[in-house]
Amino acid sequence: MKIHASLDDLIEALRRLPGVGPKSAQRMAYHLLQHDREGLTQLGLACTGALTKIHHCELCNTFTEQPVCETCANPERDASLLCVVETPADLLMVEQTLTFHGLYFVLMGRLSPLDGIGPKDIHITKLVQRASNGLVKEVILATNFTNEGEATAHYLGETLKARGLTVTRLARGVPVGGELEYVDAGTLARAMLDRRTA
Ligand code: ZN
Repeated sequence: MKIHASLDDLIEALRRLPGVGPKSAQRMAYHLLQHDREGLTQLGLACTGALTKIHHCELCNTFTEQPVCETCANPERDASLLCVVETPADLLMVEQTLTFHGLYFVLMGRLSPLDGIGPKDIHITKLVQRASNGLVKEVILATNFTNEGEATAHYLGETLKARGLTVTRLARGVPVGGELEYVDAGTLARAMLDRRTA
């Protein structure tokens, strides 16, 4: 019989976070219970709140509390440009460059056959629908310059071009193996301006 079932549950839950092993999870749990019970309450409430309120935008797939996110609902954005990124963090990075005023589609991942992540998992049908709405004139592939990001861009490029869409890829201001989240805004801005036909 387990004596500390709730403690075990807490440690197990913390272990689910990326980069957190059993030892760190245990340290975090002890820290919260002993020194920061207020923080623990905050963590619990934030988790419940996020779980009930946050879902995917109907149009671009990013996280939002509304059916359609603020960016998609903004009439000032240029609906003829659709920038495809892997994650909401990448979307924020592109926004920070202040060079892009179009709309987005967030894949929420990348193709990775070795991990069993195929086209369905990156919401390809939703992307094709979005890109084929009659308003989009150019799809900019801004996936990472990693092997998987490049393979994803290639696959998306072929799929979208087969439907008669104009597809461009970010220029290589971004280093090989680079992830957008960790590239400085200036480099990413250059890459956006120098984008090329995919
Ligand atoms: Zn949206």
